[in-house]
Formats: sequence, structure tokens, C-alpha cells
Amino acid sequence: MDWKVVFITGAANGIGLDMVRGFCKSGYKVKMIDINQDLLIQRERELKEKGFHVSIDFCDVTDEHSVKEKIESTIDKYGKIDVLVNNAGIQHVALIEDFSTQKFKQLLDVMVTGAFITTKHVFPGMKKNNFGRIINMSSINGLIGFAGKSAYNSAKHGLIGLTKVAALEGANFGITANAICPGYIDTDMVRGQLEDLAKTRNISLHQVLEQIIYPLVPQKRLIPVSEVTQLALYLASEKTSSITGQSMVIDGGYTVQ
Ligand code: NDP
Repeated sequence: MDWKVVFITGAANGIGLDMVRGFCKSGYKVKMIDINQDLLIQRERELKEKGFHVSIDFCDVTDEHSVKEKIESTIDKYGKIDVLVNNAGIQHVALIEDFSTQKFKQLLDVMVTGAFITTKHVFPGMKKNNFGRIINMSSINGLIGFAGKSAYNSAKHGLIGLTKVAALEGANFGITANAICPGYIDTDMVRGQLEDLAKTRNISLHQVLEQIIYPLVPQKRLIPVSEVTQLALYLASEKTSSITGQSMVIDGGYTVQ
């Protein structure tokens, strides 16, 4: 078996979708996981029309039974899982006193418990194969605080903790675990948030970028999603076996200041 297999959650959109294309182009067999069934089916059709060979599974990463089943069926189909990308994520912004506790738990459930569950169920196979790469999509919100993002910040910090433990427990089995910590990536989700901000402030998208976002980002740009994919491919490589337990920041200099 000379192919590599990647299991990507939150794969129907944004960064996950770009990773799907990137891993496909690099010769991986790709399993796409997402909770958005309609979008997942639409993406599969679009990708197959463009010659990409992918398979999809509708799954909520917080549902352990379903995750276990999807991991087992992926291994049945392709023989193994070499790379796990925990990318599924959601956002909610409110001040702490206004933040619904149910919403807080939901964000932690998707971004921390979800990543724990997938890691738990890919680990035995990776240990058996003496090879594994776990890539967790954290954020600069996993390293520094942002007002209004108590749940997202807690989840992304927690994901870095999980990454370190997976790195330690995988260290003698050829398994590495690393977190990617992006700043503002040029995705539909981010563009949508910026457009909302523009409406709230009654200014243009250009003004939001120039007056609010770029002063925070020394490179004065949104980061192309392809750069995140390149970093994930690098961390997934057999050649990066000594990089483990790390948080790789990709933010155009945001957190350097
Ligand atoms: P998107 O919202 O574009 O994509 C995330 C995907 O995950 C969506 O298809 C979403 O479905 C899916 N998803 C949500 N909940 C679940 C679940 N419980 N089980 C399975 N799939 C689920 O996000 P981005 O591509 O922008 O972000 C991807 C990751 O990168 C996230 O973890 C995010 O926090 C992180 N990140 C993104 C940054 C950015 O600038 N875009 C910056 C830093 C980190 P649905 O649409 O139905 O919710």
C-alpha cells in the first residue's frame, strides 16, 4: 500500500475544503467529514467533476458512535488512516455576561471534545502502523485573548493542550501531533464576518480592512487559504517526524507585536 490516507473534519467549506484539494493533488486518498450534508454532497460532485477522487461521510464530530463508525469504514475502504486533520469549528461572539452557557458548551464540544474523539479512535490504527500525523486547527485565539470570544478562546487554547498530550502519547509510535494557529485567513466565513462588521459600523468592506483589520496585521493582508494548506501538507509529511507538540502560527505577524 503506497498511498497515504487523510481524514479531514469540517471538510465541506473554507480551510478544510482547500486542504481536501491540496491533499488530493499531493496523491492522498481523502475522506471528507462534515455536519453540513447538503454542502458535502455538492462539494463531492464539484470535486469529482474536476477530477479529484474523494469520499464523503456526513458526521457530527461530537457524536462518538458516528465518528468511530466513519473511522472504521475509512480504514475498511483504504486500509489505514495516516493523517487526521481536526478542522471542524464554529464561532459565537458575545460578552461573558451575555454568553449562553449552552452555546459555550457547544463550542467546546465541537472544537475540543470532537478533536479528542477523533484522536481517540485513530490512535490505535496509527500505533499499529507506527505512523501517524495529527493536525489540529487551533487559532491565534488559542494563544492570546480576544474580548467577546470566551468560548472560542477556551476551545482553541484547550485544543493546544490536547495536541501536546497527543504528541507525548504518540512519541514512541511514530505519531506526531501539531496545532496550526492561523490569524485572519481569506475564507468566505471571514469575509462574511467583515461584511457584517461593515454593516454594523456603516462603512465599506475596504474601510473595515484598512481601519480595523490591517492595523492589527503587520503584513496588511488576509492570508491566502492555500498557505494554511501548505503548512498542513508539510506537517503531514514523513520528513517532519521530529516536529511534534508545536503550535505553528500563520498570522502575517499579528501576534509578533
Ligand atoms: P468554515 O465555517 O468555513 O468551515 C468549517 C466547517 O466545519 C463547516 O462546513 C461546518 O459546517 C463544519 N462543522 C461545524 N461543526 C461541525 C461538527 N460538529 N461536525 C462536523 N463538521 C462541523 O470555517 P473555516 O474554514 O474558516 O475554519 C476552519 C477551522 O479553522 C476552524 O476550526 C476555525 O476555527 C479555524 N480557524 C479559521 C480561521 C479563519 O480565518 N477562517 C482563523 C483561525 C482558525 P456548518 O457550516 O454547517 O457549521
